[in-house]
Amino acid sequence: MVEIRIHGRGGQGGVTLAKLIATSRFLQGRSVQAFGLYAAERSGAPVQAFCRFDDEPITNRNLIYEPDHVVVLDPTLVALGITGGLKPGGWILLNTEESPASFAQEFRGHRVATVDATAIARGHGLGTRSVPIVNTALSGAVARILEIPLEEMLAGLAHLGFGGANVASATDAWNAVVTAEILAPPTEPSSDGARTPAPAFRGPSFVSGAGGDLPGIRTGQWASEQPGRQQYVPPCNDVCPAGNDVQGFLHALAEDRVDDGLEILLRTSPFPSVCGRVCPAPCMAECNRIQLDGAVNVRQLERLAGDEGKVELVPAEARPERVAVVGSGPAGLTAAYHLGLYGYGVTVYEAAPQVGGLLRSGIPDFRLPPEVLEREVDRIRSLDVEFITGSPVDRIRLLDLARAHDAVLVATGLQELRGLQLGVGGSDVVMQGIDFLDRVKRNEVTLNGEDVVVVGGGNTAMDAARSALRLGAATVRVVYRRTRTEMPAIEEEIVEALEEGVVIDFLTQPLSLEAEAQADGDGSVHGLRCRRMELGDPDATGRRRPVEIPGSDFDVRCTRVILALGQSPDLSVFPEGTEVREGEALLGLLETPLYAVGDLATNDGTVAAAIGSGRRAAMHIHQTLTGEVVPQGERTRVRSDVDQWNDEVIRSGALRMHLFERHPVDMGESIGMDRRATTFDEIHAGLPDAGEARRCLSCGVCNECDLCVTYCPEGVLKREGHRLVFDYAYCKGCGICVTECPRNVVFMSHL
Ligand SMILES: Cc1cc2nc3c(=O)[nH]c(=O)nc-3n(C[C@H](O)[C@H](O)[C@H](O)COP(=O)(O)OP(=O)(O)OC[C@H]3O[C@@H](n4cnc5c(N)ncnc54)[C@H](O)[C@@H]3O)c2cc1C
Ligand code: SF4
Ligand code: SF4
Repeated sequence: MVEIRIHGRGGQGGVTLAKLIATSRFLQGRSVQAFGLYAAERSGAPVQAFCRFDDEPITNRNLIYEPDHVVVLDPTLVALGITGGLKPGGWILLNTEESPASFAQEFRGHRVATVDATAIARGHGLGTRSVPIVNTALSGAVARILEIPLEEMLAGLAHLGFGGANVASATDAWNAVVTAEILAPPTEPSSDGARTPAPAFRGPSFVSGAGGDLPGIRTGQWASEQPGRQQYVPPCNDVCPAGNDVQGFLHALAEDRVDDGLEILLRTSPFPSVCGRVCPAPCMAECNRIQLDGAVNVRQLERLAGDEGKVELVPAEARPERVAVVGSGPAGLTAAYHLGLYGYGVTVYEAAPQVGGLLRSGIPDFRLPPEVLEREVDRIRSLDVEFITGSPVDRIRLLDLARAHDAVLVATGLQELRGLQLGVGGSDVVMQGIDFLDRVKRNEVTLNGEDVVVVGGGNTAMDAARSALRLGAATVRVVYRRTRTEMPAIEEEIVEALEEGVVIDFLTQPLSLEAEAQADGDGSVHGLRCRRMELGDPDATGRRRPVEIPGSDFDVRCTRVILALGQSPDLSVFPEGTEVREGEALLGLLETPLYAVGDLATNDGTVAAAIGSGRRAAMHIHQTLTGEVVPQGERTRVRSDVDQWNDEVIRSGALRMHLFERHPVDMGESIGMDRRATTFDEIHAGLPDAGEARRCLSCGVCNECDLCVTYCPEGVLKREGHRLVFDYAYCKGCGICVTECPRNVVFMSHL
């Protein structure tokens, strides 16, 4: 009987080599066995395989403890232990580029054969560059040293389905194997004549490595790929117009660190309580969690942080430069806030009697209570920002301010209101929506029993219609010349207006007010003549153009018409010829840098966009006045998405959605419908606690869930503070850390 022990690593094909030898013998009529000794070893772990063949039937089914020959597939396993139990005169066949003579010390008294099976396998393209498959090459070398005809070994290969490169590999190894007999040291025979007992086979020695008890062999060299860590940009961060670190503040809230959550928000925006109520929340529209069970309720969580968090602002040391801000809407106030934090002396000049812009005069109390705005304005005031109200700035005054300050920032919003010639109807019948909302705030309007028609499809139209209902109007109709899809109002506003009883006539264009149409004697009832529209081809904005349908006119009964047709900037405050462009110094004539921000410059039309614009301008001013470059945050990184799940997933930011559990969204409480349309009290009550933040998937950002650390089978991945540390000396590149990372933050790269 011939018994062979094969030393290799999981994945190298040691068992297959045993089968190849056995098969070649079996085809010659021998009795054979081929089996491996391993349990749950993974790729790269040291394993053994065995082969027996005999002319007689084999009845021994034990492991091979005293092999006739030993084959070693991997150079890193060449150690004294491999000779354990090896019978005198047995071959040690090593896969190495070295000559047998190099092993004179280790293997004295044995026959040693070497062959560079790795190079042969690589040369024939077997396996990968870092993990070549050497078993078929070694089958040729085994045949050579055991004096098995090559044809018989190749027959074994063919029988198991190996051809082409494997046959060539075996043949090359047959020719390349080098043999030598290493002389044994002179030893005294034992007195009883028994042969010296073989040393017990102990396998590779173990030393204390970086991850605890690890093999002394640096198994990391077996890896063909290595894990690393890469952060991506969460889509919510990517789209927030204010530039908020959404994932960051949600992470703090998820750990019940509400103050920290607020602190993160205050780095970018002074208005978390405001945005937490009125922002259209593009962050939620883009939230990856939509694909699972609904967007994270970011807006309400921002409100919670703003309402409940406590943070003391610490401005930088006071600077000598002074900056004037004209207009105190969210853009001007945000600029003032950041400039105040930088330490500048800031004065805000506001035409209206109170600061706040449209937050104060436009957005109704039932969506944004005045005390909420007041609280956030107070925070800005605490930075020694000076507010001068009732102080309109015109072209002459602007030049005076420029002379008296080191920089001037203009944030006057959109002051030109678009009108519509309806023929008859005085200011008591036809009102501008912005004026109407301002007067409502000052308790100057009642609409008891009136029939109100609002013209337009934006936020002003929705707020005017909802306010009219609350002021006791009998009916409120909105006429809009396009469809719901094209309405610029925030979607929630449209839904809530409809819920409250506002009727919307889509594809309807008002033409004229007919005084006598349905007069009821006192002349206060009118008919608003309207025409039906249909959508035609897209216009320059990409929206489909409304086209009149001839002969479709009809009258809508009304006592009041509120126009909400949009606004445009009033540029008369600037010297003639001034080009208004956000974030740039505009005047060549003045030395003082002048900036235009917010709706005035961008026409973005949201509070968050105005905040972002004000913040960028403040940074710009700081850079211009000091030369200091303000870091803008990383905006160039790959975004984390769900829909990138494809073959490239490992190198994209795609989330592993199957690793997240479903959990319903917390929408918070609202006041009942029975009361809603009759009160100016705030209709949403917010979230009961910050638990909703735990729904955040932390897209593309490591939130230290440490699943990778837990599942690393080798124990070579550790957390050190906020860092993940990979011990590459022992990491075999199995990639389990990657497949267990829900956010794809851990990724593999080829070596
Ligand atoms: C009715 C309504 C509802 C809205 N609802 C929402 C909403 O729910 N969510 C949302 O994100 N956005 C909403 N918007 C849009 C949002 O309010 C604006 O985009 C935002 O306020 C723009 O900020 P701003 O600072 O550029 O300008 P504004 O808020 O318009 O502030 C400009 C300020 O400049 C002052 N000013 C003007 N001229 C002068 C001058 N010559 N001298 C001194 N001061 C001057 C004005 O009095 C005003 O205080 C709404 C808008 C309206 C009209
Ligand atoms: S400001 Fe708006 S977009 Fe930005 S995080 Fe808040 S709700 Fe989302
Ligand atoms: S799950 Fe969290 S990090 Fe991801 S998009 Fe939504 S809010 Fe942002």
